[in-house]
Amino acid sequence: MTSDRNAPPSNRQLLTLLGIFGGFIILALWLIWLAVDNIVWLIPPQVEQQLGAIIAPAYEKFAQPSPAQDTLNQMLDRLENNLPAANRQGRNYQVLYIPEKTINAVALPGDTIIIYAGLVAQAQSENELMMVMGHELGHFANRDHLRRLGRGILVQIALSSILGDSGALGGAVASAIESVSGAQYSQNQERQADDFGLILLEKTYGQVAGATDFFARMAAKSGGELAFLASHPSPKNRVVRLQSLIEKRNLKIGKLKPLPPTLAQNKK
Ligand SMILES: [Zn+2]
Repeated sequence: MTSDRNAPPSNRQLLTLLGIFGGFIILALWLIWLAVDNIVWLIPPQVEQQLGAIIAPAYEKFAQPSPAQDTLNQMLDRLENNLPAANRQGRNYQVLYIPEKTINAVALPGDTIIIYAGLVAQAQSENELMMVMGHELGHFANRDHLRRLGRGILVQIALSSILGDSGALGGAVASAIESVSGAQYSQNQERQADDFGLILLEKTYGQVAGATDFFARMAAKSGGELAFLASHPSPKNRVVRLQSLIEKRNLKIGKLKPLPPTLAQNKK
């Protein structure tokens, strides 16, 4: 039927074309959605460190070099030595110790962990502080701290790193500072960070004493003044979950190490 070649297409053909076209659009949208969800893995550590270099000063002005900060950094180094190679390469984790009563620890883009004096004052062993730091290293490993910057900022950061345009990076940062201090992680992100911390604790000490102590102490407290409780899931549930993990994996529980003197001094 060669005469049909130039005939107008039938409705059915149009519908088929429309269907294919629509399918492509849905597929494309779905791919973009997936890409944005995984975009954190496209942001290289160097770009993250550039971002951190812009964000960190907002916190650095509250931190003071101190024996306590040095000790926390030495403790962090010990954990770092036990990190999987993939989480160590190109990284330079450091603690900023902020002498404020806030009970909290925060992972900032650019390998920085903020630890407030209030959190250290609550701790009664080196082990439980190590668990808290291991948990924050877990957020870095899963790039949760980047995820919570939000999709909009992530796309900007990824684009500016692909295009090598650091001006756009600066633009993304103003809003980044706000989302870093405010946002919350999902329950699932917290669980994964707890798992990461537990594994790291076991690697570092060869046993997991103190893994649940900090969270158990938080569970016994109540009240809105605890930034930790506001930004983390129910500590009681975390204790129960960690304990069942410890049992299931048959992890050894040994002795607690006392707090290093520079950190114990903090207590009032
Ligand atoms: Zn967390």
